Amino acid sequence: MSHRNFNLAGVIGNPVGHSRSPKIHNHWLHQHGLSGSYIAMEISAEDFPQVIKTLPKMGFRGVNVTIPFKELVLQHVDIVSDTAAIIGAANTVIYRKNGTSYADNTDSAGFINNIRDMAPDWHPDRGPALVIGAGGAARAVIQSLLWEGVATVFVTNRTRQRAEMLATDFGNRVKLINFSELTGILPTMMMVVNTTSMGMHGMPDLMIPFDRLNPRAVVSDIVYTPRETHFLRKAHKQGCEVVDGLGMLLHQAARSFDYWFDVKPEIDDAVYTIAMDT
Ligand code: NAP
Repeated sequence: MSHRNFNLAGVIGNPVGHSRSPKIHNHWLHQHGLSGSYIAMEISAEDFPQVIKTLPKMGFRGVNVTIPFKELVLQHVDIVSDTAAIIGAANTVIYRKNGTSYADNTDSAGFINNIRDMAPDWHPDRGPALVIGAGGAARAVIQSLLWEGVATVFVTNRTRQRAEMLATDFGNRVKLINFSELTGILPTMMMVVNTTSMGMHGMPDLMIPFDRLNPRAVVSDIVYTPRETHFLRKAHKQGCEVVDGLGMLLHQAARSFDYWFDVKPEIDDAVYTIAMDT
């Protein structure tokens, strides 16, 4: 069997033991009758440049890249997508048949495809969006909202300086606000997204003036452990349509799978069950 008939991919990071990606991708390989495997590889920062060069020689179609290598990877591939460049990080490397390596960030597509799936009535013309957080995930979400056509994206973050850098990179459709201004602007926000790690197992809940949420707003949390966060519960009580973060995880994985194996995998109940099963 030649390299290219065996569908090999994986995730490199440190640590990677917690990753749900092997279960998700191996399920899809099996579901589509593709021979191959997706494996988790814990590597050191020192070995990273060598590993990223060697994997295609071993038959890998590509890899996901996770903490702490998402930024570093941009310096070790031949081509960086526009999305990965503006986000400043990539989570997927594709080894092309012509021998070049390409890095993209599929979180952006993952976020918006999940919104399209779960809140099909939401439309970018409905009104402005609020993104809470200014890390790598915030950048991916903001990028997708701007590309989708949302006119203005408001951003608030604990560390103002990080949000200022983000606003400089994205231009004047992104507006910074202080947390204290949320009470005033929340009623006009038609999409509200938590991109911080607040609300994750072991972290405090994210508190905003929930009673100021517009019931017509779509509210999304990209945290997926737990799947139903306090933030989503409060928004749901307020009458908002809510979208959890597990779908984003599956949609970003689907995009990577399609890149490597040229198959768009199903995001069905079976893969949700597999992704939830820790
Ligand atoms: P990151 O770059 O480290 O950014 C973390 C963000 O959370 C920053 O805005 C940070 O604010 C904020 N934050 C952290 N602790 C805080 C606290 N105690 N109080 C207030 N703000 C706090 O991380 P990331 O890569 O953007 O990931 C953020 C979250 O998104 C993680 O939970 C991750 O698991 C999740 N995620 C989900 C998906 C998905 O597919 N569903 C994809 C990517 C990421 P400062 O700037 O002030 O530190």
